[in-house]
Amino acid sequence: MKIILITGPPYCGKGTQAKIIEGQFGFRHISTGDAVRAEKQSGSDLGLTMASFSERGELVPDEIMKDLFAKVLDKNRTEEGILLDGYPRTRLQVDHLLELTEARNLSIRSVINIEVPKEELLVRAKQRAEGSDRPDDKDRNTHLRRIEIFEQQTKPCIDYLQNQALVLSLSGIGNVEQVSKRIAACLP
Ligand code: AMP
Repeated sequence: MKIILITGPPYCGKGTQAKIIEGQFGFRHISTGDAVRAEKQSGSDLGLTMASFSERGELVPDEIMKDLFAKVLDKNRTEEGILLDGYPRTRLQVDHLLELTEARNLSIRSVINIEVPKEELLVRAKQRAEGSDRPDDKDRNTHLRRIEIFEQQTKPCIDYLQNQALVLSLSGIGNVEQVSKRIAACLP
């Protein structure tokens, strides 16, 4: 089973693109953000703990994410492969991902890295906030914090992953269709 990662800053459109790729290529889309929100919806203590981080734009701690990710990975293994959206986001999560995939004899085929400049991300964040009921979408400080965490913690993971898998970097500027065509053209 192949694993493809999709990554990029918050508001770059990776969730939307992941759904399109899932439809086109048949990969199973796993979003750790969706998993966090589902856990919160269930009303569990764990879900409320996770929401206390995500609703402030902070990352959920790595050890909690490791368990959650292992659970969703094992629930979603398919022949067609997995498109993993939103994990890993820290250097320790890269280690956890490699540990969990190696233990299951899975390997990371490629990383789709969507690039969008900060000014454009902030415009999109504002637009999304207007039509969204996500608590972590609401205010500009949360938008800035999420982008800052991406720059400080997630971007270095992408550089590190270059040693493990083929990283396909492409521009996320343009409309949804233009970006999805770019992705489809470079997927192996
Ligand atoms: P997303 O929908 O991918 O933007 O994720 C929404 C929120 O869920 C993030 O802002 C984090 O608080 C939390 N989250 C999702 N994935 C991770 C992760 N890999 N590590 C830590 N927190 C995460």
